[in-house]
Amino acid sequence: MTEEFTRPETVALHGGHRHDPQTNAVAVPIYQTTSYQFRDTEHAANLFALKELGNIYTRMMNPTTDVLEKRLAALDGGVAGLATASGQSAATLCILNLCQAGDNFVSSTDLYGGTWNLFANTLTAMGIECRFVDPADPENFRNAADARTRCFFAETLPNPKLNVFPIREVADIGREIGLPLIVDNTAAPIICRPLEHGAAVVMYSTTKYIGGHGTSIGGAIVDGGNFDWEAGGDRFPTLNHPDPSYHGAVWTEAVKPLGPIAFAIRARVTLLRDIGAAMSPFNAFLFLQGLETLPLRMRAHCANADTVAAFLSAHPKVERVIFPGLQDGEMRRRADAYLSGGHGALLGFELKDGMEAGKRFIDSLKLFYHVANIGDARSLAIHPATTTHSQLSEQERTATGVSDGYVRLSVGIEHEEDILADLARALEAA
Ligand code: PLP
Repeated sequence: MTEEFTRPETVALHGGHRHDPQTNAVAVPIYQTTSYQFRDTEHAANLFALKELGNIYTRMMNPTTDVLEKRLAALDGGVAGLATASGQSAATLCILNLCQAGDNFVSSTDLYGGTWNLFANTLTAMGIECRFVDPADPENFRNAADARTRCFFAETLPNPKLNVFPIREVADIGREIGLPLIVDNTAAPIICRPLEHGAAVVMYSTTKYIGGHGTSIGGAIVDGGNFDWEAGGDRFPTLNHPDPSYHGAVWTEAVKPLGPIAFAIRARVTLLRDIGAAMSPFNAFLFLQGLETLPLRMRAHCANADTVAAFLSAHPKVERVIFPGLQDGEMRRRADAYLSGGHGALLGFELKDGMEAGKRFIDSLKLFYHVANIGDARSLAIHPATTTHSQLSEQERTATGVSDGYVRLSVGIEHEEDILADLARALEAA
């Protein structure tokens, strides 16, 4: 695709691929292969030495996955993409790409529970400390950082509170003190472009809106190419010091002929190589199918969510609706500053009659699926107090923003009248 077509609707269909060079196929072929024939020993040696970029083994790269990576990078305005087996592995690779035992990073407290566990338990056990801070005040990030801090981490639109993260404010603090901001943009693809607001790296669970059809688990990292790792010197040993696992390569040096892709290259050729959390080519194909209609679907998701928010706000059994489009004050300012074309399609509401009403509501739904997922084309609902947050004490639960009567919706793209009818019936029973 030529550079002149940059609008998301067009990039989602054409980015990274015009036709297959071997067969002229227009759809991206599924290259279901593990390995690739080298032309000769010199070719093989050049590929291994990164003197030439090309396919070696599908754990590190694959031509189908490559199109997905290029398309995602183009959509976010980044310089390189890297697909992973899941959103969880994308987050893991992001942190391991900068932090080693003894290092720390600062993360927003408003996180998906799986990411929280990864940061608070698994990475901690490996000697990498996560310092959790409240994103209500961006200065908390600066205050938590020290000489061993390697990055900041946050989600654009974290549920259940659905307070949009202050991307520019925290990215600017990071850049002032030499630290990159990594943003999990899973809940807001297309409607938020974190790199434009100063983030250095974006990651996704492609399992959600990007796949869009609830069929496959996957993740992705987009390197913004906009952070000066080299200037950080010893702050970023993984990128600026010789890598003993790759004949002493210094990644910021090695990538100079290729562009500012040190973060993405190192994650690919050392972390994917060693950890092996690669996306299968078939899943990459499915994510490409999802991406083709992502801008269209996001518009429909957001429009339906706005309608649902208005409906629930006026309902007598609903105490409160939690939705970026209904916030005011600073949270509204953040929503307006960082989301465009909609407020996302995640929405929470509190039932006046608490726990039992929450259960009755869920059990009365006929269209909404009762699942622990978000970002499907279908409408989804969950009652966190009896499911995702049931292991927490009442006090802990309330602190995360989940009251007894809290219900989370991931509004789908069905007809709005059908969505409202299902909600109305379930509310009557609640
Ligand atoms: N990030 C966010 C915001 C999520 O909601 C999820 C999953 O729900 C993940 C990351 C993890 O993604 P995956 O389930 O693809 O590993």
